[in-house]
Amino acid sequence: MNKNSKTIVLHACCAICSGYPVSYLQEAGYRVVVYFYNPNIYPAAEYQKRLEAERSLCKAFDVKLIEAEYNPEDFYNAARGLENEPEKGARCDKCFELRLRKTAEFAKKSGIEEFTTSIVISPHKNFAKLTEIGRKIAAEYGLIYQAIDFKKKDGFLKTNKISRELELYRQNYCGCEFSIRN
Ligand code: SF4
Repeated sequence: MNKNSKTIVLHACCAICSGYPVSYLQEAGYRVVVYFYNPNIYPAAEYQKRLEAERSLCKAFDVKLIEAEYNPEDFYNAARGLENEPEKGARCDKCFELRLRKTAEFAKKSGIEEFTTSIVISPHKNFAKLTEIGRKIAAEYGLIYQAIDFKKKDGFLKTNKISRELELYRQNYCGCEFSIRN
């Protein structure tokens, strides 16, 4: 590894979505620290499957994984009153903000200036909205939010290829209990 490389915190929403972002950032010369904070995931057994997949991914890419606490109440507090919102609606904005804020807090505490998220790789997620939220939080903490649209240049196909090669667990809903009905 280049000893001059900078460090970035990558918030990982799941192993499927974070495979390509990890490889992209490594190729861009970053030392990557993966931060897994996803209290939105329901139920707990599903959370464990996704965490286990993230562990496998990080091992394969030789990156450090930080496993933040799993406290579903954090999510339910953020989503209160928005339970019936559709995916891509106001509940998702709160969910993004919760997870990115916690990631920024970790980066700040760790002395790491830059952070980003794998959430953006999904075609179902709004890059502009995530950028707006990420930049707002970065400004609050005096950090840099790297707004990288990982889905560009076939990023979504590439991340799926990585997950298939590593035989990672693949979920079929976004994460929260409200997304199971979508
Ligand atoms: S649908 Fe996904 S992004 Fe939206 S609130 Fe649920 S878990 Fe979060």
